[in-house]
Amino acid sequence: MEKDRFCIDAKSVMERIDENTICVGAIMGTTFTGACEPVKEINDLLVQVKENKGLDIPIHVDAASAGFILPFINPQLEWDFRLPQVRSINVSGHKFGLVYPGVGWLIFKNHTDLPEDLIFYVNYLGDTMPTYTLNFSRGSGMVLAQYYNLLHLGQSGYTNVMNNCMDNARYLANKLTDSDIFELVNNLELPIITFRFKNTPDFTPFQLSQKLRERGWMLPAYNLPDNTDDMTVMRVVVRETFSRDMAETFYADLIKAYQILNETEKEHLKPNVSPRRGHHVT
Ligand SMILES: *Cc1c(COP(=O)(O)O)cnc(C)c1O
Repeated sequence: MEKDRFCIDAKSVMERIDENTICVGAIMGTTFTGACEPVKEINDLLVQVKENKGLDIPIHVDAASAGFILPFINPQLEWDFRLPQVRSINVSGHKFGLVYPGVGWLIFKNHTDLPEDLIFYVNYLGDTMPTYTLNFSRGSGMVLAQYYNLLHLGQSGYTNVMNNCMDNARYLANKLTDSDIFELVNNLELPIITFRFKNTPDFTPFQLSQKLRERGWMLPAYNLPDNTDDMTVMRVVVRETFSRDMAETFYADLIKAYQILNETEKEHLKPNVSPRRGHHVT
């Protein structure tokens, strides 16, 4: 990340690749801001590198968050197997796949993209079973839940749910910017709102988040990583269950917490009345 960009870009990929590069990783829906990285641009650049230098560098897309959103709300956006260098994609079922933890998917474009040595063949109870997992026995409830949702909601159901998440996210984002207290840090490609103070109040986002806990909300407040670590942001992830009503309540509680902190700070700043100073106005 840099001051003016919170994502990797094609230029910074170009500066880092050479004949030893085994893969370029790009993220659709970064943890820090919920931004989508320019996979198509990176793909086009790697296609050129392939033609000019003979280096065939694949892309892995970490679509943990966006993998269950973009195909429904923005199907034209190319970041997936439509791009020739994209060879594998992961997505978390327990995020926008609408299933409880922990189910995630790792999809390879072709059989040949998963090296044969990584597959473990076991002869188990009379049948040979290929497996590519880190552990063997685990519950399958979330797999069934995912399967149920895929069948029950289908393409149109997921599209409705994701459009609704987007509408609620836009609604809350507009309220935040209209308040004149906050400004957005990302541009809402996904139902993930990252925002910060527009001005500099006498308290931090950490204190605001702490105050909001009194009302039962857990609002993540955190610094961005290296090069941008002087920036503290807050993040709201709008999922299926975060309804318009909840957005209203959350917003009201957020503003209330802000106002209480603002007034408390003002009290403290008044000369001679602060209880911390140990004396009173005569
Ligand atoms: C959540 C997340 C992960 C981890 O995925 P899990 O399925 O929860 O293990 C990886 N990358 C990104 C960008 C994420 O948002």
